Amino acid sequence: MSAPSLPSFDLTGRRALVTGSSQGIGLAFARGLAAAGAHVILNGRDSAKLDRAAAELRNAGHGVSVSAFDVTDEAAVNAAIAALGQIDILVNNTGIHRRAPLAEMSLADWEAVLKTNLTSAFLVTRAVGAGMIARQRGKVINICSLQSDLARPTTGNYAAAKGGLRTLTRALCGEWAKYNIQINSIAPGYILTDLTRPLAADPKFDSWIKGRTPAGRWGSVDDLVGACVFLAAPASDFVNGHMLTIDGGLSAVI
Ligand code: NAP
Repeated sequence: MSAPSLPSFDLTGRRALVTGSSQGIGLAFARGLAAAGAHVILNGRDSAKLDRAAAELRNAGHGVSVSAFDVTDEAAVNAAIAALGQIDILVNNTGIHRRAPLAEMSLADWEAVLKTNLTSAFLVTRAVGAGMIARQRGKVINICSLQSDLARPTTGNYAAAKGGLRTLTRALCGEWAKYNIQINSIAPGYILTDLTRPLAADPKFDSWIKGRTPAGRWGSVDDLVGACVFLAAPASDFVNGHMLTIDGGLSAVI
């Protein structure tokens, strides 16, 4: 696959790790980064699913490898990152939902979401950041949510984690911008993936989303890819600590 002609968006020679990229938004990010010239490293826990995703990218002519590890397991994260060598671009994309009203939410569901959606970004960024600091160059992209700012009933754990991830983005910017590392985030609106399929299957929720979103539709994973390439590329070298919302206008209106 030939790299894009605009040099400031060219990722040729860069190595990008996308966590949670065996499907959905993470896999779309991996396709986009690879199309811009990067070698991509796919991550998830299920090796068979990762191998299928890697085969798709390889067949399209992209440079790809896989690294199966659980992003919530500190020892596994550190061992995997040490084995991977140089990583120039890190996308912290892994996320899960465990829905329940806060008054009924179990500590297990609270902790599972905080660990997967927030603590994982700290663990993986800390491990990858050591090399970025030594090389004085790097890009970190945290996948936030509309719920980094806005809450909904039954997703208090998710909103708390995504709000924390937005603030972690700013905290990392405060500490690492001086090393020529840009840390930004993307806040997707409602995007059709396995994570949101239960919501889209509910006709009431589906029509609420279409009515509430000025664009009048759910987002697709491809709606997010250009922003990821921008935040991974030299084009964004003076963009830092920012959250880029991609929601069809939902958060712009009441
Ligand atoms: P998805 O389709 O459910 O995919 C989640 C990915 O994460 C899978 O590849 C999964 O693979 C991996 N994963 C889950 N737990 C993991 C762990 N502990 N260690 C390593 N990998 C793990 O999710 P998605 O909809 O693409 O969402 C991706 C990100 O976008 C999430 O952070 C989500 O919160 C955010 N987001 C999504 C939407 C939306 O509308 N879909 C909106 C806003 C934000 P394995 O299960 O094999 O590990």
